Amino acid sequence: MTRNLLSGICLLLSLTAAAAEFSPDVRPGAGVTEQRLLSDYFAPLADTAMDSEVFVLDSGVPGAVGLMIGGTHGNELAGQVAALLAVENVTAIRGKLVVIPYVNRSAMSMPDSRNAVTRHHRIESRSGERYLPYGDRRTDPADQGVPDPGRYTNPPGYTLENGAESRNLNRTYPGKADGTPTERLAWAVMQLVRAEAIDFALDMHEADTPERKPTGEADYRPGGNRRLAYTLVAHPRGLETAAFALLEMDADTGISMKLEESNSTYRGLSHIEIGDNSPAVSFLSESPNPGQDRWRDDPDVVSDTRYPLTHRAGLHLRLFKHLADAHGDATGKRLEMRGIPEYEELMAGPIGRFLN
Ligand SMILES: [Zn+2]
Repeated sequence: MTRNLLSGICLLLSLTAAAAEFSPDVRPGAGVTEQRLLSDYFAPLADTAMDSEVFVLDSGVPGAVGLMIGGTHGNELAGQVAALLAVENVTAIRGKLVVIPYVNRSAMSMPDSRNAVTRHHRIESRSGERYLPYGDRRTDPADQGVPDPGRYTNPPGYTLENGAESRNLNRTYPGKADGTPTERLAWAVMQLVRAEAIDFALDMHEADTPERKPTGEADYRPGGNRRLAYTLVAHPRGLETAAFALLEMDADTGISMKLEESNSTYRGLSHIEIGDNSPAVSFLSESPNPGQDRWRDDPDVVSDTRYPLTHRAGLHLRLFKHLADAHGDATGKRLEMRGIPEYEELMAGPIGRFLN
């Protein structure tokens, strides 16, 4: 058999291979009043790998409606776990909280193609052994209906339409009803934002840590080139709310974060497009994930001593609370919640103490 024929068969196999389904393990707490699906807001997603679970925590008391989005990128664990912490612990007492823990379920169905971080991470939860999944940055090529490039980087001459980034949910907002599967997913999120009359939304991400490869033993080298971690990006309409939230965040957790305004020349990102295409004010947060540092051989994405998951998930969760408070102060429309673990409580032990 010639090499060409072989690679042709491989390509055919990769195109026809059924994508691996990912079934999220979310264990709702008493505060969840309704479970929905993204396809409830955009029916064509039903029975596809792009559909995903939505959890509603409705106080029944008029107030603000907040949206937490986890799992935009499957390899950014802390955003997903912050969403789990909310669904499994929080009760809304004024207004309504809507949570999507694994918004790109297809990306969660794949192993991490960039740094090959372990697929499942064992924790000890309130009910015993439990595994936190770790996925890939982008939609599974099989679900997108494109050949698998077999590598992380884009081929030369790529465009947003045909390149690997076309499978990146956070490049495809506000989506298209008749677009690619990833564009339809973004469209479904936008439909949810409109239907639920979301007032403010936080899309929770992770980036590589602000640390370079140590040159010797115990040599901590801050100041990597990429400084996305510890950033809150705010839609122009949300800048003031974000600034107040970050002041409270610093006082509450000691975590100092940078504030960045959405740059409207880079389209497709949730923080600009949700705000530009709906009445919602949109934000995007970034925590430091050792699993995204290319120089680490065997990153521990749960228990890293400097960047443990408690710190990173706690960052997003507390930030969401402070955004809710600051938004309430600015507009008079409040989302009030109880059961949010305090940051110090989270940091006092393993993350599983706060998961069902
Ligand atoms: Zn991300």
